[in-house]
Amino acid sequence: MPALELAAAGLKPLSVCSFEPFIGRIREQPDDTSSAREREILLVRRPTQLLPPGFRGYLLLEEGLVSPGLEDVYVLPTSQHYLAEGDVVRIHPQRVSLATLYRRASPSNTFLVTERCDNNCLMCSQPPRKQDDSWLVDELMETLPLISPETREIGITGGEPSLLKGRLVELLERMKQHLPRTSVHILTNGRGFANPELARAVAKVRHPDLMLGVPLYSDLPEEHDYVVQAMGAYDETLRGILHLKRARVRVELRCVVHAQTYTRLPQLAEFITRNLLFVDHVALMGLELMGFARANLGLLWVDPLDYQDQLTAAVRTLSRAGLDTSIYNHQLCTLPTELHPFARKSISDWKNLYAEDCERCTRRVDCGGFFASGLAKRSRGIQPFVD
Ligand code: SF4
Repeated sequence: MPALELAAAGLKPLSVCSFEPFIGRIREQPDDTSSAREREILLVRRPTQLLPPGFRGYLLLEEGLVSPGLEDVYVLPTSQHYLAEGDVVRIHPQRVSLATLYRRASPSNTFLVTERCDNNCLMCSQPPRKQDDSWLVDELMETLPLISPETREIGITGGEPSLLKGRLVELLERMKQHLPRTSVHILTNGRGFANPELARAVAKVRHPDLMLGVPLYSDLPEEHDYVVQAMGAYDETLRGILHLKRARVRVELRCVVHAQTYTRLPQLAEFITRNLLFVDHVALMGLELMGFARANLGLLWVDPLDYQDQLTAAVRTLSRAGLDTSIYNHQLCTLPTELHPFARKSISDWKNLYAEDCERCTRRVDCGGFFASGLAKRSRGIQPFVD
C-alpha cells in the first residue's frame, strides 16, 4: 500500500474526538488487557455490546452504542471495510479521514519518505515537489514498531530517499531493530551515494536484507541525463553505484523501457556486463502510465511488440554474462516465448488489474497483468493464450 492514500469518503464521528492526527494498529480482538491498547484502534464489525475502554480509538463498521467517556469513536466508510487485524492507519480527526499506512496481508507495503528529488524524470510516476516533508520520516519512524515482524518486504520510495542523508541511515537502523527479518528495498537514483560517506554509513548499519534499486537508462551519459532531465546525473549515479558496491551494499539496476530508451537496450546491456558485472540484479521494466509518464505519453509510448528484438538482445547478453535478470511490468502475451522465464509478476497488488480478454487466458496465473493506470493504453499484442 502507498503511505499517502487518503480515503475519498469520510469517517463519521460518534464521540468527542482528538484534535491532532494519530497513528494506531488495528485490533479486532478486545478480550485481553494488553498494555499495547493505547497504540491500538479497535475495529468492531458488529457493535452489539458496549465498547471496552483503553484503546486509542474505535472504528465501527456500523453505528452502535458508545459508552460515555470514550473518545475517538468513528463509523468507517464502506470503502475502508477492508481493514483487518494488524493493519496500521493514521486517523485525522479534524479532516474526518483515515489513511492506510500498512496492510499486514499485502505483500507490497511501500513507504514514501520524501517527495523531493534532484532528478526530474520524463516518466516519473510521483512527480517531485519542493517542500519540507520531513514529517513523512517522522511518521514512518512511529509506524515501524507497529508493523508485524513477519512482514516479508518493505519498499522505500520517493522522491529521492538519499536526499534524507543521515535520516535515511537512522531509518535503516530502526528497521533493523524492529523488523530484523524483513527485506528492505529502496528505490533511489543513486546520486546521493556519489558521496562515499553516505554509502559507507548505509553499509555500516549492516542491515541483514537490504537492496538498493538504482535506475540506469543508457550507456551514453547524455541520453541518461536527458531521460532524468538533470545534467551530470549519469556521472553521479555511476559513482554512487560504485561506492555502494565497494561498501558491499546490494544494488539492483533498473531500466524503464520506453521510446527514449529502447533503441540502445542492447548497448546498455553490453555496458553493464563490461563495467558493472558485480551488481546483484538487473530489471528491465515496462512503463507505468502515472504522473509525468501520462503527460509525456507521446514522447514515451512504444508498443512492447515493437521493442521485442532489443529486449531479447539485452536479456540474452545479461543472462549469458551470469547476471540475475528480470523483466517487470510486461504482459506475457507481449513477450517472445524465449523471454517468458524472465518475466515476473511485479505490479503491486493494489494497482494490478487484468483486461476482460484475460478471463479466458490459460497463462493468466503466470502473467503480471496491467497497472490499473495502463489499461487505457494497451499493446496491440494482447491476446489470450488458449493452449
Ligand atoms: S491475455 Fe491477459 S493474462 Fe493472458 S498473457 Fe495477455 S495480459 Fe496476460
